[in-house]
Amino acid sequence: MSQFDFDLFVIGAGSGGVRAARIAAAHGARVAIAEEFRFGGTCVIRGCVPKKLLVYASRFADDFNDARGFGWSFDDPDFDWPSLVAAKDKEIARLEGLYRGTLARAGVEIFRERAILTGPNAVRLSASGKSVTAAKILVATGARPNLDAHLPGIEHVITSNEAFDLKELPARIVIAGGGYIAVEFASIFNGLGSEVTLLYRGEKILRGFDEDLRDGLTAAMTARGIHIITNDVFASIDKESGVLRGSLKSGEVLEADQIMFAIGRSPNTSGLGLADAGVAAGMAGEIIVDAASRTNVASIYAVGDVTNRVNLTPVAIREGHAFADSVFGNTPWSTGYETIPTAVFSTPEIGTVGLSETQARAQGHTLDVYKTAFRPMRVILAGRDERTHMKLVVDAKSGVVLGVHILGPDAGEIVQMAAIALRLKATKADFDQTMALHPSAAEELVTLRDKWVPPVV
Ligand code: NDP
Repeated sequence: MSQFDFDLFVIGAGSGGVRAARIAAAHGARVAIAEEFRFGGTCVIRGCVPKKLLVYASRFADDFNDARGFGWSFDDPDFDWPSLVAAKDKEIARLEGLYRGTLARAGVEIFRERAILTGPNAVRLSASGKSVTAAKILVATGARPNLDAHLPGIEHVITSNEAFDLKELPARIVIAGGGYIAVEFASIFNGLGSEVTLLYRGEKILRGFDEDLRDGLTAAMTARGIHIITNDVFASIDKESGVLRGSLKSGEVLEADQIMFAIGRSPNTSGLGLADAGVAAGMAGEIIVDAASRTNVASIYAVGDVTNRVNLTPVAIREGHAFADSVFGNTPWSTGYETIPTAVFSTPEIGTVGLSETQARAQGHTLDVYKTAFRPMRVILAGRDERTHMKLVVDAKSGVVLGVHILGPDAGEIVQMAAIALRLKATKADFDQTMALHPSAAEELVTLRDKWVPPVV
C-alpha cells in the first residue's frame, strides 16, 4: 500500500487536468481532482465553447442578409440577447455535467474546492481545511485575463469572463486589444448589432499572423462597420449616469455602454503555494516545466496555460494525455509543438497553419508564394463584396509547403485538413496533384498555379 492518499492529485478540472485525470485513472492510478469553480475550465465554461456559440449567433446577420439575394423575403429579423445567453448557459451546464460524469465514471475522486500546494507531495483543500497527500501532483490551473491595474477607472471594465453573461447587449462597446479575443468579440458584437470600436496599441491587429491575413481582416472588419483605432491606449475611464467615457492617450474620448479588455492572459498561479512546494516559476508567473511537463520538483508536473507554452485547448489536452501515459501508463511520449493549426473566429474567420511569409523568410527560406483573393460563390448573389484570401508559403528549393493561410468562411475547417498535409511535409507538387473538389472554396488550394510576384514600385 502506498504511503500517499492518492497516486495522482490534479489541481484544476479544465481541458488538460480532466484529460490527465481520466487517462491516469484508466491506467489504474488512484486519482483525485480539485476544482474551485465549474468543471470544464476556461474552454468549456467561459472560452472556446460559449464563444463559438456566440459566433454562430452573430453570423445569422449575414445569413438573413444573404437570403434575400437568393429569393427569400421576410420581415426584419429580431435578436434577443437574453434568449441567447439562456440557451448558451443550458448547453454549458450540459457539457459541464458530461465532464463531471466522465471523471466520476473513471473512478476519480472529486473535491469541489480550491487546492493549494503545501509540499512536494501535499495539498491543502482551502474550504474544508483538509490535507491530502499524493505521489504525484499535476497543476492544471489555466490562466486568467490581464487587466491594466494602474489605469484610473479600471474597475468599470469587463473581460471575456463577464462578456458571456451581460444582462443586455451593449449598444456601444469598446474592446481593448488586438489579439484573438479582442478580434473575435469585436466580430461577435458587430454581428449582433452593437456599435463596436477596437482599440489596439500597435500598428496592425493580430501580431504574429501572416501580413496578408492581418491586412485582409482589418479591411473586412472595417467594411463591416467596426471602428479600428490603432497606436493608442486608454489613459483613463470614467462612468457617469451609466455611460462610460474612455479617454485615450491621444486625447480622443470614446463613449460606450461597456468597455472590454482583452489584452492577454496570465498563468493562474497566484496563491497556489508554489513557493511552499519549491516549484520554480517564470517572470509571468508561469510554471517552468521540461518536455515531459515536469517541474523542478520531481513529484510535481504542470500542463496547459499555467505553463504558458502554446496556450490552446488541444495542446493542453495533449500535454495532459502525454503526462498520464508517460507517468502511469508506462508509455512515455511528449507533445509536439510543430505545425499547430489555429483559427481566429472573427467574421470572416482566419485559419492558419505553419509559418507566415515573414517567419519563413526570417528562418532563411527562399520562398515561392502563391496567393489568391476571390469572392466566394455565396456572396455574389447576396450582393456582398467580401473576398476570401488564400496563401501558400512554399520553400523554393524543396517545394515543401511551409504555411497555409486562409481568411474567409470555413477557414478553420479547411486548415484543420491542410495541417495533415503540412505534417506529412507535402510539397506544392503534392497539392497540385490532388484532385480539386468542385465547386468549393478549398479547391483553390490545389489549383494555385502562378507564383506571386511583388508589384514593381
Ligand atoms: P493575445 O495574446 O492573443 O493578444 C493580446 C493583445 O493585447 C495583443 O494585441 C497585445 O498587443 C495586446 N496587449 C497586451 N498587453 C497590453 C497592454 N498592456 N495594453 C494594451 N494592449 C495590450 O491575448 P488574448 O487575450 O486575445 O487571448 C489569450 C490567449 O488565449 C491567446 O493568445 C490564445 O492563446 C488563446 N485564445 C485562443 C483562441 C482560439 O484559438 N481561437 C481564442 C481566444 C483565445 P501586442 O500584439 O502589441 O502585444
